[in-house]
Amino acid sequence: MPGLSKSKYTSFRKCPKYLWLGAYKPEEQVVDSSMQARFDTGTSVGELAKGLFGPYTDVTTLTDDGHLDIKAMLARTQQCLADDADNICEAAFSYRGCYCAVDILRKTDDGYAIYEVKSSTSADKEVYAQDVAFQKWVLTQCGVNVTGTYLVCINNQYVRNGALGVHQLFSINDISEAVAVEYPQVAANCKAAKAVLDNPAEPAVPIGPHCHEPYGCGFMSYCMRQCGIPDNEPTVFDLYRGSFEKQLEHVHNGIVSFPDIVKSGINLTPMQKMQVDCTMHGTKHIDKAALHEFLNTLSYPIYHLDFETMQLVVPPYDGTRPYQQIPFQYSLHIEHADGTLEHREFLGNGVDDPRRALAEQLCRAIPADACVTAYNKKFECGRLSELADTFPDLSAHLLSISNHIIDLLSPFQKGYCYYPAMGGGFSIKAVLPALFPSDPDLDYHNLEGSVHNGGEAMDIYPLIAAMSPVEQAAARESLLRYCELDTFAMVKVLEKLRELAR
Ligand code: SF4
Repeated sequence: MPGLSKSKYTSFRKCPKYLWLGAYKPEEQVVDSSMQARFDTGTSVGELAKGLFGPYTDVTTLTDDGHLDIKAMLARTQQCLADDADNICEAAFSYRGCYCAVDILRKTDDGYAIYEVKSSTSADKEVYAQDVAFQKWVLTQCGVNVTGTYLVCINNQYVRNGALGVHQLFSINDISEAVAVEYPQVAANCKAAKAVLDNPAEPAVPIGPHCHEPYGCGFMSYCMRQCGIPDNEPTVFDLYRGSFEKQLEHVHNGIVSFPDIVKSGINLTPMQKMQVDCTMHGTKHIDKAALHEFLNTLSYPIYHLDFETMQLVVPPYDGTRPYQQIPFQYSLHIEHADGTLEHREFLGNGVDDPRRALAEQLCRAIPADACVTAYNKKFECGRLSELADTFPDLSAHLLSISNHIIDLLSPFQKGYCYYPAMGGGFSIKAVLPALFPSDPDLDYHNLEGSVHNGGEAMDIYPLIAAMSPVEQAAARESLLRYCELDTFAMVKVLEKLRELAR
């Protein structure tokens, strides 16, 4: 049923052009895999929450070709209301082209309360209030007495112990005050949103802070191009650690390209200045003395360590919380003084809690006082500290490893080495192709299998248990080769830094 759904209403509240582009030019939207993963998480959380208040009727109905059968859902909802149902999930209502399906509609003494389920851990009341106020308005127009509005979020303080505690997993927040702020504007907003949808002319909305708030917009590249901001050459938006507000201010003042930046004489941080200078002149910046000093902090054998983790909304093991980073894999390259290289690795079996076996094997592989490197050590140190908290008997060893980690990111972050191809980014995925532009063995795109980045590793590991043996073997191989490349990349980066320091 075409019309104004609650997601279209919230799109309009973010930006009228966002609503329009979604209807008229959806192909321009860039949907990254993390967006899809968030959507899948939302669906599974919604399923779990359905039973929060006891027995319920789910009116979700699909057509033969798998789409939502809105007409049938509207009719089933009316039947549930007539039957005095206590809990209706996906309760569907429509009023003059405005449509919504309420996650959980719960009967109260004198009406019904709306429960909106979100997979996030925080109740960002203002943002979600728009969505819920729209639902309350549609239901009210349909003659339902809405007696309460609640947000059901994930409780990140919940620690699993045995069977999943669905009631502890969720936290319920009364958002009636925030809904009351939005509610008086809903009718006018619906009218304005429908006018945008009915008009084939694209609304003229300049990019602004709203593009990133409350969430990033998938039409950013499209709108940037429209504003004359090229996506094939560096611009103010590529400046190292530039704030979006500042970047918008520069664009507003006609400063877009790097030559514009130089001409304007705007203030740049030392790192941004180095970035612009190198890019404009096609030169590299190498601070040999500083690199030397950094390299002198390392001693052989050098242990290059990298973890892969998963972050599940439903804590999978005892002692874990929602969205906790749970390490399930590591790769370790050991570089000896004579130039030999050893590789060790760990990968959980996909069924059992991998943390104990991983921590034990890691302690056997890395001496407590070893020289260890990580790329962006905050991440590895965080996981080691959590493992130390979980396994007190291994704590001293794990914390000692953590305390000895030297960050391979730091020479780049401190500006000891800059190549224009880094584009103002210092992640291993930005640094590696800049330092080794034509080495196919160091190109993550050339990895065979389904894992080419941390997000894919995080997504595939929890699925392993349900795979066939053949699929399992392929997924495991893919995970192992990906993580191995992460630490091999660190070996190569260090090798390059030594070469540059000479
Ligand atoms: S990028 Fe900004 S201006 Fe363009 S549609 Fe999205 S929110 Fe609107």
